Amino acid sequence: MWFAIITLFPDMFAAVRDFGITGRAIARGQVSVTCLNPRDYTHDAYRRVDERPFGGGPGMVMLAEPLADAINHAKALAAEQGLMNVPVVYLSPQGRKLDETGVKALQHYDGMILLCGRYEGIDERLIQLYVDQEWSIGDYVLTGGELPAMVLMDSMIRRIPDVMGDNASAEQDSFVDGLLDCPHYTRPDTFQGLDVPDVLKSGHHLEIEKWRFLQSVTRTKARRPELFKDVTLSKQQQKWLNE
Ligand code: SAM
Repeated sequence: MWFAIITLFPDMFAAVRDFGITGRAIARGQVSVTCLNPRDYTHDAYRRVDERPFGGGPGMVMLAEPLADAINHAKALAAEQGLMNVPVVYLSPQGRKLDETGVKALQHYDGMILLCGRYEGIDERLIQLYVDQEWSIGDYVLTGGELPAMVLMDSMIRRIPDVMGDNASAEQDSFVDGLLDCPHYTRPDTFQGLDVPDVLKSGHHLEIEKWRFLQSVTRTKARRPELFKDVTLSKQQQKWLNE
């Protein structure tokens, strides 16, 4: 997976580049991350990337021209790599809200150019002319698109085959099969008076699977009941549920 990120704060992406599973995926060459700073595409002495809004009002608006040049450069880099299927994605609170279905849909691209806004946002004409998709990470407003871009990248990178130590672990997470994940326990057997459920220490794999499934169902119904109506159950799971 190839990511080009248009950002005024490239150093922030150390959080994805230098740590944990995402950092390892980049080090192994499973993921490539390039940051392009709009300031490097300005032509004035002050390297201006923002201006006051037409019509007045508070805040500044990101200039279209340096962003357009940065996007064109990112597109050229993608073409050099032979990547055809690379949409320009603007992280925006007005975009489609990211969820597991969205992450799966984005997985089909060879890569993407992620556009991170700052200030009041970006000149609308740049969005009209250059942006293919807008994605939001939730109904609240952040100061910039960098954290949303990293959220999107992390959610995609961990679904690339062989990026996780154990591919099965991503498959068992919340939302993948429509249910929330079951609770997890590790050592010690007793922590401040609370014991690990006996079944998890029984070594009986089918009983453990059944217990985990029923825990997932209970949690989903209690915490996110709206998810449960869309879940497809196997015959075995239906049997467990009706026992
Ligand atoms: N004036 C804009 C509005 O109300 O729609 C908000 C601008 S926000 C202060 C600055 C930048 O942060 C946006 O251009 C966008 O890139 C990013 N951003 C803020 N909240 C976001 C969210 N929930 N999801 C994705 N991006 C977000």
